[in-house]
Amino acid sequence: MNELLDVVILGAGPAGLAAAIYTGRARLQTLVLEKGLPGGQILTTDWVENYPGFPDGVAPFDLMADFRRQAEKFGARIEADEALKLKRHDSFWKVVGGQSEYVTRSVIIATGANYRKLGVDGEIRLTGKGVSYCATCDAAFFRDKDITVVGGGDNALKEALFLAKFGKTLKIIHRRDKLRGEKILQERIFAHDKIEVIWDTIIERIKGEGKLESLQLKNVKDGSRKDLKADGLFVSVGMVPNSDFVRGLIDCDEWGQIKVDSKMHTSQKGVFAAGDVTNACPEQIATAVGTGVSGAMALTDYLEALAAS
Ligand code: NAP
Repeated sequence: MNELLDVVILGAGPAGLAAAIYTGRARLQTLVLEKGLPGGQILTTDWVENYPGFPDGVAPFDLMADFRRQAEKFGARIEADEALKLKRHDSFWKVVGGQSEYVTRSVIIATGANYRKLGVDGEIRLTGKGVSYCATCDAAFFRDKDITVVGGGDNALKEALFLAKFGKTLKIIHRRDKLRGEKILQERIFAHDKIEVIWDTIIERIKGEGKLESLQLKNVKDGSRKDLKADGLFVSVGMVPNSDFVRGLIDCDEWGQIKVDSKMHTSQKGVFAAGDVTNACPEQIATAVGTGVSGAMALTDYLEALAAS
């Protein structure tokens, strides 16, 4: 049999590494698996200004390198592998990875979520250079600028109302002639003197040399095209949680987010979840850290109770 670990943490973003600091300090044999670069989704942003303790902001890469160093200092091992499946293995759990298999007493799933992309030309190239997926993180960079939000759900409407406090102009691009978001949010949008909704329209191309300059729009009803000047584009068309590999095993909500209680227990004993993959985390580094720590503490209690039984 493979080495028996106390805990395997899936994902080395803020939630996973915060959990690893705590399980390491609890002297639990901790393995963190990460399929990409340790750090997670925040490495796609340029600068973090809202993480407490850094009044001048911090580079995400530096912040996550310190998270990693701190987890390793307390004994966590971080390996490159992707969890493909989670299975019961007698009274333990087995993580089936792309490279190897891991047997463990407990698991923390902290695999995060990805912002749904528009998938249009220029989107990836100009991310962090005018294209953003998080108003809370990046609004302050667009004071008195021309801002566009794409999407018609609750999140797009909330982001638009928040961003309107910063921008000179605020346009919402929506692919249909009706918004999906809550009626009360719609009323606020329609009553706002700075916000204009451009209906039945998709973004075909995101244009700019070095930074965002304009959006090529297409009206889906009459096929007409025009360019819209934009300094900032906030894409708010939903999230895709990385939970496919546990579907059917662990209860998820309608969006595929893993359901957790206030201590980050999932529907399976010995399996905990934290961060953006759960239904309990508002997509911020600080909240991901908080859920990671809660999960690690509940897991420590769980393993102690198991050892005592
Ligand atoms: P949403 O309700 O799914 O809305 C997504 C919006 O983006 C819709 O208006 C949709 O248009 C539009 N859209 C989707 N793909 C697009 C594309 N390729 N191009 C252009 N527009 C596109 O998502 P949300 O606003 O993020 O969330 C709404 C509520 O659900 C919130 O209260 C949130 O907390 C909750 N929630 C959502 C998710 C999620 O993953 N979406 C996860 C957890 C919780 P149509 O209206 O035409 O479909």
